[in-house]
Amino acid sequence: MKVLRSPDELMAYRAGLSGAVGFVPTMGALHKGHLALVKHAKRNQGKVIASIFVNPTQFNDPLDLQSYPRCESADRELLEAAEVDALFMPTAAQMYADGSRYQVAETSQSVDLCGADRPGHFTGVLTVVLKLLNLVRPTHLYLGEKDYQQYQLIKGLVNAFFLNIEVIAVPTVREQDGLAMSSRNRRLSAIDRKTAPKFFQILSSNLSDEVVIKQLIQQGFTVDYVKTIDGRRFGAVQLGTSGRGVRLIDNVRIEP
Ligand code: AMP
Repeated sequence: MKVLRSPDELMAYRAGLSGAVGFVPTMGALHKGHLALVKHAKRNQGKVIASIFVNPTQFNDPLDLQSYPRCESADRELLEAAEVDALFMPTAAQMYADGSRYQVAETSQSVDLCGADRPGHFTGVLTVVLKLLNLVRPTHLYLGEKDYQQYQLIKGLVNAFFLNIEVIAVPTVREQDGLAMSSRNRRLSAIDRKTAPKFFQILSSNLSDEVVIKQLIQQGFTVDYVKTIDGRRFGAVQLGTSGRGVRLIDNVRIEP
C-alpha cells in the first residue's frame, strides 16, 4: 500500500492510474464499518484509495476535535490487510492552504438534524469532500448509511457540481448487540457501553418519535433529536455522566 502524505504525491500517483478508482474517505480510528466500505470498493476490480483526515472544519467543539481518537499505525495495518492500494493522509495546512476562504455550503437539508445544533458542520464536510474528490478523481465513492444525512448531502454535491462519480451507500455495520460501529464508541465508559445499544433498539421500534424520545430519556440518554423523514428515523443522543458526553448517531428504516 502506497502512503501518500501530500496532495502533490496523491496527484502524481493518480496520474498513473486508468480505469475504475474507488475512494473511501475516513477520519481514521478504523473499525469494521470502514472496512465494509473497502470491501465494497474492492469488488469493483479497480484501484482502491482510502484517506484518513480528521477534518478540523467540521468540528464545532474544539474539545471534540482534540479527543477524536487517532491510531495511525493500527489503521495502516488494517488498510494494508484489506488490500487498499493507496492511503492518502494529508495535513490540515495542506488541505486548507487557502485559509478556508473557499467553502461549499448546502442551504436546505444541511440545517436540519445534525446540522441544526452543529452550525457549519456540513459546510466543513462538503468543503473537504469536494477537495478530496478533486484530488482523488474517483469513479466510485463509498459512503456509510450510518451517516445517512451526510451521504444524502454528498450525493447532492456530486450531482450539483456534475462530478460524474457513482456514489454507493453501504449498510451500517453493527456490533452484535445492535450498536452502530463508530470511532467514538471507544470513548464510552463500561457502563455507558452497556446502555448504548438501547439507542438502536428504541430507535427501531414502531413507536412514535415523541414516545421514542421519552424512552431514550428514561434510559439515561440526552436526546439531541429524533425525527422521521420519508420512512427513515434519524436520531442523535449523548451518553456520559462524568466529564464530556459521547455523541452517538444512528438511523433506521421504519416500516409504515
Ligand atoms: P468517519 O471515519 O466516521 O468519518 O466515517 C468514514 C466513512 O465510514 C463514512 O462514510 C461513514 O458513514 C462510514 N461508516 C462509519 N461507521 C460505519 C458503520 N458502522 N457502518 C458503515 N459505514 C460506516
